[in-house]
Amino acid sequence: MRAFLFYLLSFTWGLPITAAGFICAVFVRLCGVRSDRVGYCRRFRVGRGWGGFSLGPFVFVGEDEPESTAWHEHGHGIQNCFFGPFMIFLVSIPSAVRYWYRRLNENKRFRHAYGDIWFEAQATRLGEKQRGRIGRDK
Ligand SMILES: [Zn+2]
Repeated sequence: MRAFLFYLLSFTWGLPITAAGFICAVFVRLCGVRSDRVGYCRRFRVGRGWGGFSLGPFVFVGEDEPESTAWHEHGHGIQNCFFGPFMIFLVSIPSAVRYWYRRLNENKRFRHAYGDIWFEAQATRLGEKQRGRIGRDK
């Protein structure tokens, strides 16, 4: 996805999630966390050992997370461009519930890997595609 389209959709159709991300970004910035760029997104590294989440073009990940986590979150940012106001019901809430269910039941054995469900697999695919594309553009 081109930068222009990404920002256009993030700040129109995807504005509900982008606005929430902006509020979180301002909050963590006021707490002294600096950001850098991952693709088209602003990345904030906060804490350790918890993974990451994103709200539109704002990515929040643990300091110990590999680059691939940030690109996966970038993929959710692209999903926000597609799904817009439906993002919260299609991806955000199911993803958060699933994350916490698994996190609170770490001793359980799950039949499916975390990334197997469609919205996680799609986020990884979109993020990695973007990563490859930006790598080539440089
Ligand atoms: Zn995810």
